[in-house]
Amino acid sequence: MSVETKNVTISIEKAKISKIDQVDFDNLKFGSVYTDHMLVCDYRNGAWQAPKIMPYQSIALDPSAKVFHYGQAIFEGMKAYKDDKGDIFLFRPLENQKRLNISAKRLAIPELPEDIFMEGLTTLLQLDSDFIPTQEGSSLYIRPFMFASGNGFHASPADEYKFIIACAPSGSYFSGKVKVLIEQTYSRSANGGVGFAKAGGNYAGQFYPTQLAIEKGYNQVIWTDDTEHEFIEEAGAMNIFVRINDTLITGPTSDRILDGITRKSILEIAKDHNIPTEVRKITVTEVVNAAKDGSLKEMFGAGTAAVISPIAAFGYKGTDYDLPELENSYATKLKKLITDIQYNKSEDKYGWRY
Ligand code: PMP
Repeated sequence: MSVETKNVTISIEKAKISKIDQVDFDNLKFGSVYTDHMLVCDYRNGAWQAPKIMPYQSIALDPSAKVFHYGQAIFEGMKAYKDDKGDIFLFRPLENQKRLNISAKRLAIPELPEDIFMEGLTTLLQLDSDFIPTQEGSSLYIRPFMFASGNGFHASPADEYKFIIACAPSGSYFSGKVKVLIEQTYSRSANGGVGFAKAGGNYAGQFYPTQLAIEKGYNQVIWTDDTEHEFIEEAGAMNIFVRINDTLITGPTSDRILDGITRKSILEIAKDHNIPTEVRKITVTEVVNAAKDGSLKEMFGAGTAAVISPIAAFGYKGTDYDLPELENSYATKLKKLITDIQYNKSEDKYGWRY
Protein backbone atom coordinates (compact mmCIF):
# COMPACT_ATOMS: atom_id res chain seq x y z
CA MET A 1 0.00 0.00 0.00
CA SER A 2 1.07 3.59 -0.40
CA VAL A 3 -0.16 6.97 0.76
CA GLU A 4 -0.13 10.13 -1.31
CA THR A 5 0.55 13.08 0.91
CA LYS A 6 0.47 16.59 -0.48
CA ASN A 7 3.82 16.34 -2.23
CA VAL A 8 5.22 12.88 -1.53
CA THR A 9 4.16 9.31 -2.25
CA ILE A 10 5.13 7.02 0.61
CA SER A 11 4.95 3.25 0.23
CA ILE A 12 3.94 1.42 3.39
CA GLU A 13 4.63 -2.15 4.43
CA LYS A 14 2.95 -2.77 7.76
CA ALA A 15 4.44 -4.94 10.49
CA LYS A 16 2.64 -8.31 10.66
CA ILE A 17 2.83 -8.48 14.43
CA SER A 18 2.97 -5.43 16.69
CA LYS A 19 5.57 -5.24 19.48
CA ILE A 20 3.43 -2.94 21.57
CA ASP A 21 2.58 -5.62 24.15
CA GLN A 22 6.30 -5.93 24.96
CA VAL A 23 6.58 -2.26 25.95
CA ASP A 24 6.39 -1.58 29.68
CA PHE A 25 5.01 1.96 29.51
CA ASP A 26 5.24 2.44 33.29
CA ASN A 27 8.99 1.75 33.36
CA LEU A 28 10.32 3.36 30.22
CA LYS A 29 14.03 3.95 29.90
CA PHE A 30 15.40 6.45 27.41
CA GLY A 31 15.58 5.29 23.79
CA SER A 32 15.93 1.55 24.24
CA VAL A 33 12.72 0.03 22.81
CA TYR A 34 11.53 0.90 19.33
CA THR A 35 8.19 1.25 17.57
CA ASP A 36 6.85 -1.14 14.93
CA HIS A 37 7.89 0.91 11.91
CA MET A 38 10.64 3.09 10.48
CA LEU A 39 10.87 5.44 7.53
CA VAL A 40 13.68 4.90 5.02
CA CYS A 41 14.60 7.16 2.13
CA ASP A 42 17.54 6.53 -0.18
CA TYR A 43 19.67 9.02 -2.04
CA ARG A 44 20.82 7.49 -5.29
CA ASN A 45 21.72 8.69 -8.83
CA GLY A 46 21.90 12.25 -7.58
CA ALA A 47 18.38 12.40 -6.07
CA TRP A 48 16.38 11.49 -2.98
CA GLN A 49 14.03 8.63 -3.93
CA ALA A 50 10.46 8.02 -2.75
CA PRO A 51 10.39 7.27 1.00
CA LYS A 52 9.20 3.93 2.36
CA ILE A 53 7.73 2.98 5.70
CA MET A 54 8.55 -0.60 6.67
CA PRO A 55 8.73 -2.77 9.79
CA TYR A 56 11.57 -1.71 12.13
CA GLN A 57 14.47 -3.95 11.14
CA SER A 58 18.23 -4.28 10.67
CA ILE A 59 19.80 -2.84 7.56
CA ALA A 60 22.53 -4.41 5.43
CA LEU A 61 25.53 -2.26 4.46
CA ASP A 62 28.68 -3.02 2.52
CA PRO A 63 31.84 -3.13 4.68
CA SER A 64 33.20 -0.34 2.49
CA ALA A 65 30.20 1.95 3.17
CA LYS A 66 31.79 5.33 3.84
CA VAL A 67 29.94 5.90 7.08
CA PHE A 68 32.14 3.22 8.71
CA HIS A 69 35.38 4.81 7.58
CA TYR A 70 34.83 8.54 7.42
CA GLY A 71 31.95 9.07 9.81
CA GLN A 72 29.74 10.90 7.36
CA ALA A 73 26.70 10.70 9.63
CA ILE A 74 24.33 13.22 11.19
CA PHE A 75 21.17 13.03 13.25
CA GLU A 76 18.37 14.94 14.95
CA GLY A 77 16.45 14.45 18.18
CA MET A 78 12.78 15.35 18.57
CA LYS A 79 9.78 14.23 20.58
CA ALA A 80 6.09 13.54 19.93
CA TYR A 81 3.64 14.18 22.75
CA LYS A 82 0.07 12.96 23.27
CA ASP A 83 -2.50 14.96 25.22
CA ASP A 84 -5.43 13.69 27.32
CA LYS A 85 -7.66 13.55 24.26
CA GLY A 86 -5.17 11.42 22.33
CA ASP A 87 -4.12 14.19 19.95
CA ILE A 88 -0.47 14.12 18.89
CA PHE A 89 1.89 17.08 18.90
CA LEU A 90 5.40 17.91 17.80
CA PHE A 91 7.41 20.87 19.08
CA ARG A 92 8.89 23.19 16.43
CA PRO A 93 9.64 20.30 14.03
CA LEU A 94 10.68 22.58 11.18
CA GLU A 95 13.58 23.76 13.33
CA ASN A 96 14.86 20.18 13.42
CA GLN A 97 14.32 19.81 9.69
CA LYS A 98 16.32 22.98 9.02
CA ARG A 99 19.08 22.00 11.44
CA LEU A 100 19.38 18.56 9.81
CA ASN A 101 20.15 20.29 6.55
CA ILE A 102 22.62 22.68 8.22
CA SER A 103 24.43 19.59 9.52
CA ALA A 104 24.12 17.88 6.11
CA LYS A 105 25.75 20.79 4.32
CA ARG A 106 28.72 20.86 6.72
CA LEU A 107 29.29 17.10 6.29
CA ALA A 108 28.93 17.26 2.47
CA ILE A 109 25.72 15.19 2.61
CA PRO A 110 22.94 16.13 0.14
CA GLU A 111 20.19 18.14 1.81
CA LEU A 112 16.82 16.45 2.28
CA PRO A 113 13.64 18.13 0.95
CA GLU A 114 11.36 19.45 3.69
CA ASP A 115 8.36 17.50 2.34
CA ILE A 116 10.07 14.11 2.71
CA PHE A 117 11.04 14.98 6.29
CA MET A 118 7.69 16.38 7.42
CA GLU A 119 5.29 14.17 5.49
CA GLY A 120 7.39 11.07 6.17
CA LEU A 121 7.50 11.88 9.87
CA THR A 122 3.80 12.63 10.27
CA THR A 123 2.78 9.50 8.31
CA LEU A 124 5.10 7.35 10.46
CA LEU A 125 3.72 8.88 13.67
CA GLN A 126 0.13 8.20 12.66
CA LEU A 127 1.02 4.55 12.05
CA ASP A 128 2.88 4.16 15.37
CA SER A 129 0.72 6.52 17.43
CA ASP A 130 -0.14 3.82 20.02
CA PHE A 131 3.53 3.92 21.05
CA ILE A 132 3.35 7.57 22.15
CA PRO A 133 3.27 7.39 25.95
CA THR A 134 0.84 9.41 28.03
CA GLN A 135 2.61 8.83 31.37
CA GLU A 136 3.88 12.02 33.01
CA GLY A 137 7.37 12.91 31.78
CA SER A 138 7.30 10.32 28.99
CA SER A 139 7.10 10.92 25.25
CA LEU A 140 8.03 9.33 21.96
CA TYR A 141 11.65 10.15 21.20
CA ILE A 142 12.17 10.53 17.45
CA ARG A 143 15.53 9.95 15.84
CA PRO A 144 15.88 11.14 12.23
CA PHE A 145 19.37 10.37 10.88
CA MET A 146 21.36 10.33 7.66
CA PHE A 147 24.56 8.56 6.72
CA ALA A 148 26.83 7.64 3.82
CA SER A 149 25.73 4.21 2.62
CA GLY A 150 27.71 4.49 -0.63
CA ASN A 151 30.88 2.42 -0.93
CA GLY A 152 34.56 3.12 -1.39
CA PHE A 153 37.81 3.48 0.53
CA HIS A 154 38.60 6.76 -1.16
CA ALA A 155 38.37 9.51 1.46
CA SER A 156 35.71 11.60 -0.27
CA PRO A 157 31.95 12.06 0.07
CA ALA A 158 29.80 9.03 -0.79
CA ASP A 159 27.45 8.95 -3.78
CA GLU A 160 24.66 7.20 -1.86
CA TYR A 161 23.02 8.05 1.46
CA LYS A 162 20.20 6.81 3.65
CA PHE A 163 17.77 8.91 5.65
CA ILE A 164 15.96 6.97 8.36
CA ILE A 165 13.51 7.92 11.08
CA ALA A 166 13.24 5.52 14.02
CA CYS A 167 11.26 6.16 17.20
CA ALA A 168 11.46 5.00 20.79
CA PRO A 169 8.87 5.49 23.55
CA SER A 170 11.00 7.02 26.29
CA GLY A 171 11.10 8.10 29.90
CA SER A 172 13.43 10.72 31.33
CA TYR A 173 17.02 11.09 30.13
CA PHE A 174 18.61 11.50 33.55
CA SER A 175 17.54 9.65 36.65
CA GLY A 176 18.25 11.66 39.77
CA LYS A 177 20.40 14.70 40.32
CA VAL A 178 22.91 15.82 37.75
CA LYS A 179 26.49 16.44 38.78
CA VAL A 180 28.75 17.92 36.12
CA LEU A 181 32.50 18.35 35.66
CA ILE A 182 33.83 21.51 34.05
CA GLU A 183 36.32 20.12 31.54
CA GLN A 184 39.90 21.38 31.68
CA THR A 185 41.76 19.02 29.34
CA TYR A 186 39.65 17.81 26.44
CA SER A 187 37.60 19.81 23.93
CA ARG A 188 34.40 18.98 22.13
CA SER A 189 34.88 21.31 19.20
CA ALA A 190 36.96 24.11 17.79
CA ASN A 191 36.51 27.24 15.70
CA GLY A 192 35.86 26.33 12.10
CA GLY A 193 34.99 22.76 13.08
CA VAL A 194 31.71 20.85 13.18
CA GLY A 195 30.54 21.62 16.72
CA PHE A 196 27.39 23.37 15.47
CA ALA A 197 26.36 20.29 13.47
CA LYS A 198 24.70 17.23 14.94
CA ALA A 199 27.45 15.03 13.54
CA GLY A 200 27.82 11.56 15.05
CA GLY A 201 31.56 12.09 15.48
CA ASN A 202 30.97 15.01 17.86
CA TYR A 203 29.42 12.55 20.28
CA ALA A 204 32.00 9.78 19.75
CA GLY A 205 34.69 12.29 20.70
CA GLN A 206 32.90 13.07 23.96
CA PHE A 207 32.57 9.50 25.19
CA TYR A 208 36.11 9.01 26.50
CA PRO A 209 36.35 12.29 28.49
CA THR A 210 32.81 11.67 29.75
CA GLN A 211 33.78 8.16 30.88
CA LEU A 212 36.67 9.65 32.86
CA ALA A 213 34.23 12.11 34.46
CA ILE A 214 31.77 9.30 35.29
CA GLU A 215 34.59 7.36 36.98
CA LYS A 216 35.10 10.41 39.19
CA GLY A 217 31.40 10.46 40.12
CA TYR A 218 29.99 12.98 37.64
CA ASN A 219 27.18 12.41 35.11
CA GLN A 220 28.25 14.83 32.40
CA VAL A 221 31.03 17.08 31.22
CA ILE A 222 30.53 20.79 30.72
CA TRP A 223 32.63 21.69 27.73
CA THR A 224 34.75 24.80 27.75
CA ASP A 225 36.44 26.62 24.87
CA ASP A 226 39.30 24.76 23.22
CA THR A 227 42.04 27.34 23.81
CA GLU A 228 41.80 28.56 27.41
CA HIS A 229 39.15 26.21 28.88
CA GLU A 230 37.76 29.34 30.49
CA PHE A 231 34.44 29.91 28.72
CA ILE A 232 31.42 27.69 29.44
CA GLU A 233 30.15 26.19 26.16
CA GLU A 234 27.59 23.39 26.54
CA ALA A 235 27.11 19.89 27.92
CA GLY A 236 27.03 16.52 26.14
CA ALA A 237 23.48 16.84 24.80
CA MET A 238 22.30 20.05 26.44
CA ASN A 239 22.88 23.78 26.30
CA ILE A 240 23.76 25.33 29.65
CA PHE A 241 22.02 28.07 31.62
CA VAL A 242 23.44 29.75 34.71
CA ARG A 243 21.48 31.91 37.14
CA ILE A 244 23.53 34.54 38.96
CA ASN A 245 21.37 36.46 41.45
CA ASP A 246 18.18 36.91 39.41
CA THR A 247 19.69 36.95 35.93
CA LEU A 248 19.49 33.91 33.69
CA ILE A 249 22.55 33.66 31.44
CA THR A 250 23.46 31.38 28.56
CA GLY A 251 26.42 31.51 26.23
CA PRO A 252 26.04 32.72 22.63
CA THR A 253 25.86 30.09 19.90
CA SER A 254 28.87 29.83 17.63
CA ASP A 255 30.36 27.34 15.21
CA ARG A 256 31.42 25.31 18.27
CA ILE A 257 27.97 25.02 19.89
CA LEU A 258 24.73 23.36 18.84
CA ASP A 259 21.98 25.92 18.32
CA GLY A 260 19.51 24.18 20.64
CA ILE A 261 15.79 24.53 20.03
CA THR A 262 15.05 24.18 23.74
CA ARG A 263 17.64 26.90 24.50
CA LYS A 264 16.10 29.46 22.19
CA SER A 265 12.54 28.58 23.31
CA ILE A 266 13.52 29.02 26.96
CA LEU A 267 15.10 32.40 26.23
CA GLU A 268 11.83 33.58 24.70
CA ILE A 269 9.60 32.16 27.45
CA ALA A 270 11.85 33.60 30.18
CA LYS A 271 11.71 37.08 28.67
CA ASP A 272 7.92 36.87 28.45
CA HIS A 273 7.78 35.98 32.15
CA ASN A 274 9.94 38.90 33.18
CA ILE A 275 12.99 36.83 33.99
CA PRO A 276 16.05 38.97 33.20
CA THR A 277 18.09 37.13 30.59
CA GLU A 278 21.53 37.65 29.11
CA VAL A 279 23.15 35.92 26.16
CA ARG A 280 26.86 36.44 26.63
CA LYS A 281 30.07 34.59 27.29
CA ILE A 282 30.22 33.02 30.75
CA THR A 283 33.63 32.46 32.30
CA VAL A 284 34.46 29.59 34.59
CA THR A 285 36.07 32.08 37.01
CA GLU A 286 32.80 33.98 37.20
CA VAL A 287 30.80 30.81 37.95
CA VAL A 288 33.29 29.61 40.59
CA ASN A 289 33.36 33.05 42.27
CA ALA A 290 29.56 33.22 42.21
CA ALA A 291 29.39 29.75 43.78
CA LYS A 292 31.78 30.92 46.51
CA ASP A 293 29.95 34.16 47.30
CA GLY A 294 26.46 32.63 47.09
CA SER A 295 25.25 34.58 44.07
CA LEU A 296 25.17 31.42 41.91
CA LYS A 297 21.58 30.33 42.43
CA GLU A 298 21.05 27.73 39.71
CA MET A 299 22.56 25.92 36.79
CA PHE A 300 20.59 23.74 34.41
CA GLY A 301 20.92 21.97 31.11
CA ALA A 302 18.33 22.34 28.35
CA GLY A 303 17.67 20.01 25.46
CA THR A 304 14.98 17.93 23.79
CA ALA A 305 15.97 14.69 25.50
CA ALA A 306 16.86 16.18 28.89
CA VAL A 307 14.09 18.87 28.79
CA ILE A 308 15.36 21.06 31.66
CA SER A 309 17.73 19.19 33.96
CA PRO A 310 18.76 21.03 37.13
CA ILE A 311 22.42 20.68 38.04
CA ALA A 312 22.97 19.80 41.69
CA ALA A 313 26.75 20.33 41.78
CA PHE A 314 29.73 21.03 39.57
CA GLY A 315 33.35 20.00 39.88
CA TYR A 316 36.25 22.20 38.89
CA LYS A 317 39.97 21.58 39.45
CA GLY A 318 39.40 19.02 42.19
CA THR A 319 36.75 20.94 44.15
CA ASP A 320 33.02 20.26 44.10
CA TYR A 321 30.60 23.16 44.40
CA ASP A 322 27.02 22.36 45.48
CA LEU A 323 24.15 24.43 44.21
CA PRO A 324 21.42 25.47 46.64
CA GLU A 325 17.97 23.87 46.49
CA LEU A 326 15.64 26.73 45.68
CA GLU A 327 11.91 26.79 46.29
CA ASN A 328 11.08 28.99 43.30
CA SER A 329 13.70 27.92 40.86
CA TYR A 330 13.72 29.17 37.31
CA ALA A 331 14.35 25.58 36.18
CA THR A 332 11.08 24.35 37.72
CA LYS A 333 9.10 27.32 36.45
CA LEU A 334 10.50 27.18 32.90
CA LYS A 335 10.17 23.40 32.70
CA LYS A 336 6.48 23.65 33.51
CA LEU A 337 5.95 26.46 31.01
CA ILE A 338 7.67 24.65 28.15
CA THR A 339 6.22 21.18 28.83
CA ASP A 340 2.71 22.65 29.15
CA ILE A 341 3.11 23.95 25.59
CA GLN A 342 4.56 20.63 24.40
CA TYR A 343 1.83 18.46 25.96
CA ASN A 344 -1.00 20.82 24.92
CA LYS A 345 -1.80 21.84 28.49
CA SER A 346 -1.55 25.57 27.90
CA GLU A 347 -2.14 28.12 25.22
CA ASP A 348 0.70 28.32 22.70
CA LYS A 349 0.98 31.96 21.76
CA TYR A 350 4.23 31.27 19.91
CA GLY A 351 2.77 28.80 17.41
CA TRP A 352 5.41 26.20 18.36
CA ARG A 353 3.05 23.27 18.78
CA TYR A 354 2.54 21.35 15.56
N1 PMP B 1 23.81 20.55 22.60
C1 PMP B 1 24.07 19.33 22.09
C2 PMP B 1 25.48 18.94 21.85
C3 PMP B 1 23.01 18.45 21.81
O1 PMP B 1 23.26 17.22 21.33
C4 PMP B 1 21.68 18.87 22.06
C5 PMP B 1 20.53 17.93 21.79
N2 PMP B 1 20.06 18.05 20.46
C6 PMP B 1 21.46 20.16 22.57
C7 PMP B 1 22.55 20.97 22.83
C8 PMP B 1 20.08 20.68 22.79
O2 PMP B 1 19.44 20.91 21.55
P1 PMP B 1 17.87 20.82 21.39
O3 PMP B 1 17.28 21.70 22.42
O4 PMP B 1 17.58 21.29 20.02
O5 PMP B 1 17.49 19.40 21.61
